[in-house]
Amino acid sequence: MTKNPQQPEVNIGLVGHVDHGKTTLVQALSGSWTDQHSEEMKRGISIRLGYADATFRQIPGADAPECYTVEEETEDGEETDVLRTVSFVDAPGHETLMATMLSGAAIMDGAILLVSATEDVPQAQTAEHLMALDIIGIENIVIAQNKVDLVDRERALDNYEQIKEFVEGTVAEDAPIVPISAQQEVNLDLLIEAIEEEIPTPDRDETEDSRMFVARSFDINRPGTTWDGLMGGVVGGSVVAGKLEEGDELELRPGREVDEEGQTEWRSITTEVRSLQAGGNMVDEVRPGGLCGVGTGLDPSFTKGDALAGQVAGEPGTLPPTREQFTMDVELLDRVVGGEEDEGIDEISTGEPLMLTVGTATTVGAVTSARSGEAEVSLKRPVCAAEGAKIAINRRVGARWRLIGIGTLK
Ligand code: GDP
Ligand code: MG
Repeated sequence: MTKNPQQPEVNIGLVGHVDHGKTTLVQALSGSWTDQHSEEMKRGISIRLGYADATFRQIPGADAPECYTVEEETEDGEETDVLRTVSFVDAPGHETLMATMLSGAAIMDGAILLVSATEDVPQAQTAEHLMALDIIGIENIVIAQNKVDLVDRERALDNYEQIKEFVEGTVAEDAPIVPISAQQEVNLDLLIEAIEEEIPTPDRDETEDSRMFVARSFDINRPGTTWDGLMGGVVGGSVVAGKLEEGDELELRPGREVDEEGQTEWRSITTEVRSLQAGGNMVDEVRPGGLCGVGTGLDPSFTKGDALAGQVAGEPGTLPPTREQFTMDVELLDRVVGGEEDEGIDEISTGEPLMLTVGTATTVGAVTSARSGEAEVSLKRPVCAAEGAKIAINRRVGARWRLIGIGTLK
């Protein structure tokens, strides 16, 4: 498979328990392209976040669902028509930090929930991820019942019933359940059909102020590069509103911590868009969907080693405020999911540390005041976030951070 013919226009999260086949499915749908090292991949944005783009195509004149494919040509050498390019966000299932999944979810337009037919439903992360989708309000969901090549018909039907029961009363209640084998590439046409129907490309307003969530940042210069060959710092992430164009001015918040006469302060950074990359190509503009790399005029030492990860970028003067503390409405979950046994959740108490995910930013905060349904936190690292922003609230339970609730920024 060659490069995708156009930029992705929609982000689809891959969620589900570890080993249920998320990565295998992404590979089956995006073909060898994900293995080819585009510049973007070399720089590691995609690897870290698990992004891969795929182009859905249609065989002219063929009936649904057989017409759906990711191949450029049919076996008879007939060219297929492009439907759209999508970007998959492959959430790391083994990741102990739920926040990673949630920060990916901040830019998901829909999700595929993978459930292996070989295990009882739900496994720990199946439950955890579905709850996260529910909380974040991702409603366009397709359930892929994977590994059907490993079970007999009876087992598959049993498993199907378990899935049905499990999603009852959740955001995925009406989601189609498509039996597939990601590894054997069985029923991928049916799956594409379901995705085309259930996860439409959202209507976007190009004239809105541009907004980008920064997930990574780096210095692309080789050690020892002299000043005249030095390239500006690069930020990678996802445009969520408006569009970015070469030559645009760009503000980044919270920006940098500046030390002046013993006083430290966070100051936003302003720069310009010097180059843009999307879907492995250099482009003139980037709209929402998929991942992009932005070459800036910043001193590369500012962007080195993900220094700007979690920040928000956009047209100067239009970004939400930088907050070193904030108050949030808190909605606690009924119970910790995915634990050894179901544990209840105690109220948040003053003084306790919480790990908070806001957009692509993850920060630790100390609770300075807690009331029922509300908490005030003071952050180690500030975040740029608008009123109403959703915040994933994690508490340390034993050796790991567990999702205990969702906050809404006041
Ligand atoms: P992830 O942790 O959800 O990303 O799961 P992976 O995609 O890494 O898959 C875990 C294992 O299951 C790998 O060894 C895959 O080859 C295997 N696998 C994935 N999908 C299928 C399938 O449809 N059938 C079979 N038999 N094995 C599968
Ligand atoms: Mg994986």
